[in-house]
Amino acid sequence: MSEVVLEAVSKVYPGGQRAVAELSLTVPDGEFLVLLGPSGCGKSTTLRMVAGLEEVTGGTIWLDGRPANELTPRERNVAMVFQNGALYPHRSVRGNIGFPLQMAKADPAESAERVTEMARALGLEQMLDRLPGTLSGGQRQRVAMGRAIIREPSLFLMDEPLSNLDAALRNDLRLEIGGLVRGLGVTTLYVTHDQVEALTLADRIAVMNEGFLEDVGTPTQIYENPATAFVAAFLGAPPINLLSATVEAVAGEGVKLHLGRQRLVLPWTDPRAQYLASHHADEVVVGIRSDALRPTGDPHLGAVLSGHLRTLEFHGHEWLAHIDAGVTVVDPATVSRRREPEPVGAVPRPAGMAGRALSLLRGGAGRRVPAERPAPHVGAHRRAELLTRLHSRDGYTPGMDVHLAVDLDRVLVFGKDGRRVDPVSR
Ligand code: ADP
Repeated sequence: MSEVVLEAVSKVYPGGQRAVAELSLTVPDGEFLVLLGPSGCGKSTTLRMVAGLEEVTGGTIWLDGRPANELTPRERNVAMVFQNGALYPHRSVRGNIGFPLQMAKADPAESAERVTEMARALGLEQMLDRLPGTLSGGQRQRVAMGRAIIREPSLFLMDEPLSNLDAALRNDLRLEIGGLVRGLGVTTLYVTHDQVEALTLADRIAVMNEGFLEDVGTPTQIYENPATAFVAAFLGAPPINLLSATVEAVAGEGVKLHLGRQRLVLPWTDPRAQYLASHHADEVVVGIRSDALRPTGDPHLGAVLSGHLRTLEFHGHEWLAHIDAGVTVVDPATVSRRREPEPVGAVPRPAGMAGRALSLLRGGAGRRVPAERPAPHVGAHRRAELLTRLHSRDGYTPGMDVHLAVDLDRVLVFGKDGRRVDPVSR
């Protein structure tokens, strides 16, 4: 059992490549934590530093309350499973799984029993005498897991263990890994770039981007309440709609978010409006997941975005609709974030502190933002269409007008630095 604490851990490779930037993270005993992010964001480097395979450039790694920077991998009692699950080719399944016990000079009779038990748990008992070369990719990966687990490590580190497998096998093994590791109750750090793996396996997900920690939270928190635009865009399919908007705080009404020719209004009773007021006349990024949009027949009732149905993509169980709504879509890769570490969940200055916002709240005139004013650009833009799901094609044809009711409670607003305008609590 082990608690892992990363305290402002950094890694700069020889040659100057910064892979990890002041990463601070606590993984409590028994937690299954997934490190998620695009290729090259520093996930493997982080895992290798925890394993003791890579030196730490700055900061401290604590294992069960002890500083571990100087400990050898063996002293850390961690087990690691890699992408290719490298096995000893000339040892049988039995020999591979039992290898760590043999190295530890465990009692042979007891070892044999434990190997058989482990093989049974992993569905490998029929192939104990086979060599790795005769196994499928999924079976080999299971052997690698068995070999790692049988040591009863205090910490389990997995680096993309499923990424070399085909989709069906990946789904099966994902379930098995989840069950097995949870059953053991061993603290686990699991690296993946696959959001589905992260959402389905994790107790908590830590999302990394260019060496920085973007966000950390439960799968639900990360999906519904992401700290940054990057995280919002990294999770979910179809991708979240990120739209460029201009903020107008209007006394007596609320905060208007001008999205091209359309607008959404957050009343002053909405806590987000208070924070948005300090962004009056600024450009922000509004995030709306496709599942927060629902077709409606009444374009004048509540919060509605309207447009022309441009294309319908058939996805089997649903249609993905591309709707030309005269909005400006923002590419999440180009929404800048502050490039210095900052604790996730840091509370931004509330709008009420800002003088101009206060005057608006008190009923002052405020500066009006002409709706037609072309929005200054935040980031580059990919497509100018809203994406939403339609469960049935009935009645929809490309070219027709569509009205989408917006679930205002689920609308996310990000500032120019890509961080949420309203505070994110974890
Ligand atoms: P991920 O696991 O998220 O794909 P990595 O931790 O492997 O990312 O890499 C993070 C960054 O560090 C990348 O830019 C990568 O090119 C660089 N990097 C990784 N290993 C080395 C190395 N041994 N020497 C120099 N740069 C490296």
